[in-house]
Amino acid sequence: PAKPVFAGELPKGLQAISNIVAVSSCKGGVGKSTVAVNLAYTLADMGARVGIFDADVYGPSLPTMVSPENRLLEMSPENKTILPAEYLGVKLVSFGFVGQGRAIMRGPMVSGVINQLLTTAEWGELDYLVIDMPPGTGDIQLTLCQVAPLTAAVIVTTPQKLAFIDVAKGVRMFSKLKVPCVAVVENMCYFDADGKRYYPFGKGSGAQVVQQFGIPHLFDLPIRSTLSASGDSGMPEVVADPQGEVARTFQNLGVCV
Ligand code: ADP
Repeated sequence: PAKPVFAGELPKGLQAISNIVAVSSCKGGVGKSTVAVNLAYTLADMGARVGIFDADVYGPSLPTMVSPENRLLEMSPENKTILPAEYLGVKLVSFGFVGQGRAIMRGPMVSGVINQLLTTAEWGELDYLVIDMPPGTGDIQLTLCQVAPLTAAVIVTTPQKLAFIDVAKGVRMFSKLKVPCVAVVENMCYFDADGKRYYPFGKGSGAQVVQQFGIPHLFDLPIRSTLSASGDSGMPEVVADPQGEVARTFQNLGVCV
C-alpha cells in the first residue's frame, strides 16, 4: 500500500481545513454517498464552507448525485494542484470527474490515486471536508485515514441482520485510529403508508451498537422515493427541500461543532 503521509506532517492541501468527517459503511449500496452528499449540503446551508471528497474510486457516485457545470477537474496553471469542481458553493473532487477513468486497478494503485486527489486538490479554507469513504475496512480505508487527519466519523448501515457485526468492525477501525464515531445512520429503515409505519427489513441493531460502543447519536432515515430520485437528478434532497424531514435529520447529526 501507499506510504501513509499523515505521520506528523499534514499535507499542504489539507492545512486550511478545520474538520474532516468520514462517512463510512462496511458494505456498498447502503446509502453512504446519499448521506455524505446530504450532510455536506446541510452544513453548507447552515453557512459552513464545505468540500466533498468522493474516495469511492471503484464506484464514484458524486457525478450522479450533484451536477456541477464543469464536470472535469482542471489542473492549476502551474500544473501542480487540482482545481475542484463546484456546485452551489461546495467544492467537489471525485475520480468520476477525472477524464480517463481506469476501471481496473490494484489496491496500491487505488490508494495512490486517492492520496493524490485528496492532497493535491486546492481545497482552500474549509470548515468541513466530508469524505465519502470506499465501502469496507481494508487497506484502502486505513491508508486514507492515515493521510487525512479525521476529526469525526459517521457510519451508515441498513437494518439487515449482519449489520451489527459490520458496524462494529467500522467502529473498531475508527477507534483504533482514535477517530471519534459521532453517529450511526440506519438508512432505509422504514416507510410510512396508509397511516402506518412499516419496517421492511426488521428493526435494526443500530441501537445496540450505539449503546455498546457509546456512540452519541443514532439516526433513522426512511425509505423515500424523493431521496432516490434526488440522488439521480443531481440535486440533493436537502437542497431541493432545505426545511424538510431529511434536512432536519442532518442538521442534528452531531457533526456540526
Ligand atoms: P452507497 O454509497 O452506500 O453505495 P448510495 O448512497 O449510492 O449507496 O445509495 C444506493 C442507492 O439507493 C441510490 O440509488 C440511492 O439514491 C438510493 N437510496 C439511498 N438511501 C435511500 C433512501 N433512504 N430511500 C430511497 N433510496 C435511497
